[in-house]
Amino acid sequence: MTAELSKAPTRPERCPECGYDTHNRRIPPPPSLFHWRITAPALVVLAALLALAWMFLRNWQTSTTGSGTAQALVIEPSFTLDDIGRIADSRQMNSGLAATLQRALAEQASALARYPGDPVLTTGFVEGRGMRRDTLMYGWPTGWVTRISYSLYDDAVARTGPRPMRTWTPQDNTGGVILPNEPVAANSSLDDSGLVMPRPRWSWGTYGGGYLAYRPTPEETGGTAYWLDINTYGVVAVVGLIVLGWALLRIAIWAINVVRDRSKPRLRSGLVSLFGALAVAAVIAWMTIETCQRTDTFIAPRRTGTFVRTGATGGYYAQRGMEHSSLRASALPSLAASPDGDRVAAQAILGALKDQPAPAHYLAIALNAESIMHNGSGRFWRAVPVLSWHSTQYIRRSDIGSPDLMANPPGVRWDFQNAYLRRTVSSGDPAQAESGFSINLGSVGLIVLGTWVLWLLARLICRGITQLIMRCRRRRNQCIACGHALGPPVAA
Ligand SMILES: [Zn+2]
Repeated sequence: MTAELSKAPTRPERCPECGYDTHNRRIPPPPSLFHWRITAPALVVLAALLALAWMFLRNWQTSTTGSGTAQALVIEPSFTLDDIGRIADSRQMNSGLAATLQRALAEQASALARYPGDPVLTTGFVEGRGMRRDTLMYGWPTGWVTRISYSLYDDAVARTGPRPMRTWTPQDNTGGVILPNEPVAANSSLDDSGLVMPRPRWSWGTYGGGYLAYRPTPEETGGTAYWLDINTYGVVAVVGLIVLGWALLRIAIWAINVVRDRSKPRLRSGLVSLFGALAVAAVIAWMTIETCQRTDTFIAPRRTGTFVRTGATGGYYAQRGMEHSSLRASALPSLAASPDGDRVAAQAILGALKDQPAPAHYLAIALNAESIMHNGSGRFWRAVPVLSWHSTQYIRRSDIGSPDLMANPPGVRWDFQNAYLRRTVSSGDPAQAESGFSINLGSVGLIVLGTWVLWLLARLICRGITQLIMRCRRRRNQCIACGHALGPPVAA
């Protein structure tokens, strides 16, 4: 009798209150959009975003922006003073000089796009003895991995007479140099001595968000200084951008389903969003391959020169032995296409020479913006670089022309560089500063990823609480969906 009673259907097939199948043990969907299982995770995310916005507003920092200085680099394939002389005299046709200049300067030219005026080609001849720097940067929109190897040569351009580096030992300490008590920082500079200060094999750097620095000794890498930086921030940012693509598609499909006629079948968001995320990943992978920067550059042996200050905040660095030529960036493409271009370029390079270098010296070039920043200021968020505001005036470099204020053409400009999407508005009036803002796409990815993880955690906790409530309701013989009493409580 008792056994029969406990087996007897003491509860109906369906809950009379909400109609939920009483034998279904799965978690029922939330009955409305405003149910706590939906609102609680949403409120957690909202609170986190508000906290972030509050921190944003509290942690602004104002800076005065300086101007960059173009570093002179030896171009490859290389040209000696003798080569340039031959090309200028038209004794060497099709030397490829103008095309090499244009290719070598394309990247520098895009970095100078924000400065008003026409950049000037600065040239000089430098000796080959020195350090060679081979850089490989991988990743988009910010670099994930940067690999640099430094090596010393008697002639770094021809790669002859290698001078292996070695780790510094106390016996090398001559002339009363102060001994380091502990390994020096990962990015301590290298010099021409060939001695590398002891540095930790692995260390954590915080510049630009955080990176893992790997520094094996030169003895392990065949006499070169090998630097490997893994930008954890860049990797996290990429995952964040993929999640952003996935989330935006899910939201779009959800919105379409809400708006659409109820009689039509609902769109399934799972597969479509997955493809969306894969598409974002493919774009990032493609851009990474496209923008993989391999530079084989040779640092001019000694960087000597003077800093020329103009106004309160700006200035430029004038490198000794480097002179402004008559060539401007705007002329380079037509020069590379012209049959006479090599000769014209060579004559301009010879025309810029002030003192006569040795004939074996190599051509070094730099592209310098005609203008430099003047009375600039930037306002950026200190903790993570997400948003920044800038306001700048420009002035012509005094070694290029009369130091007048300069302005970009009036209008709105967008540019994308080093993960920063930048918008600038210029009035075209040199007396007025141009201003705008920039967004760091990498940081956007980071924030999206953080928000998504928080949302997942909040949902997981809500699910746990729901399961506890359901277990409790089952024990009390209540409908698991709405808690309506279905009959007397079942004995445990
Ligand atoms: Zn119910």
